Amino acid sequence: MQNINEVIACLRRIKKAIGSGEDNSLIPPAISRNHKHDLASPFTPIFHAPEEFDYPDYVEFEYFQAIDRDYEERGFDALAWYVSFHNGGPWGIFIPVLSLAYIEKRFLKRYRGTRFRKWQIGYDFLLQHELFHFAADYMCAQWEILLQAPCWSALTNYRKREGIDYLEIEEKLANAYMLRQLNKRWTLSARRLILTAIEGSPPGYRDGVTCVDEQTFKSNLAELTKVYIGLHAIEKEINLLTTGVDITAFYTLAERLDASQCPITIIHNEDRFGIPQIGTNFILKIPTIVESESFQKTFRKLDLSLQKRWKKKKQQLAETIPRHPEFEKFADVFSLRLNDNYRVHLRPSNDMAVWEAIAVGTHKEMGHG
Ligand SMILES: [Zn+2]
Repeated sequence: MQNINEVIACLRRIKKAIGSGEDNSLIPPAISRNHKHDLASPFTPIFHAPEEFDYPDYVEFEYFQAIDRDYEERGFDALAWYVSFHNGGPWGIFIPVLSLAYIEKRFLKRYRGTRFRKWQIGYDFLLQHELFHFAADYMCAQWEILLQAPCWSALTNYRKREGIDYLEIEEKLANAYMLRQLNKRWTLSARRLILTAIEGSPPGYRDGVTCVDEQTFKSNLAELTKVYIGLHAIEKEINLLTTGVDITAFYTLAERLDASQCPITIIHNEDRFGIPQIGTNFILKIPTIVESESFQKTFRKLDLSLQKRWKKKKQQLAETIPRHPEFEKFADVFSLRLNDNYRVHLRPSNDMAVWEAIAVGTHKEMGHG
């Protein structure tokens, strides 16, 4: 994948390809620096939502029910959204914290797991859907640079004139991409509940399930390319129907999608509803770990290979957080797997700057059963 700033710089040299940045209608005015997190590096955020807390009734009436209506019209994009870099202003993926609460309450109510897990699932699903829009934006930009034509703004202006709110085929693909990604990551029971949620979303969105398999997915990718660039391609006498060229290659999906190039903004809209600090504790890495006395006492008696492993794990944590279940919330602490049998329990300081390793032992000794 090309450097995105370079791509945008090239687009700027094409007449009308990039907007003036004045249309900020998709970015809520409430966003200020302390209300969002920019996650600019590869990450697996860990949510630290309080388990005991229940949402006050007015959240249901004032927020969740309003989202119910939006969801019927805009599917997953009622819960999170992507703003194109073609607008010329702030861009990227926007995810409000309360959308995770909404997914927990509406879609994952019957999922047997903690709130913490439900939020992780919700975040993952929203993120993958929106990342597809980023990939489509990138695909379009690549063609625009080749054709030297403002395909994105031509299509967007056409859509606005015709009153077309969204491209059904793009939403279908975004949900299909999401399902393809998450089939590898989440359990069948979580996926089934999300599938039920997708069934209740509008045309396009709800059709994602029909193009999950490789062949249908790819042929739909080719179709979407034609939607974006078809007219300009004909003008330049470029044959998009040839079977000799893989026109889906510009999407940079799968391994080639560098998600870290897309800014992600977490919108902290929970304070509006007096919900205690949630989502403020995104853990991207743990650079500083101290060990409690009792941890050290047990640790010294452990097998040398386990001691070595812990040292290595500490180095890894300084870079990135391993995926569930290697690293997971457990009661009021976090649990790290040293190996199949041994666990380390860690607790963050209030500002998350320093973590303390408080205990180490077999999963049975540590109460994991
Ligand atoms: Zn979408």
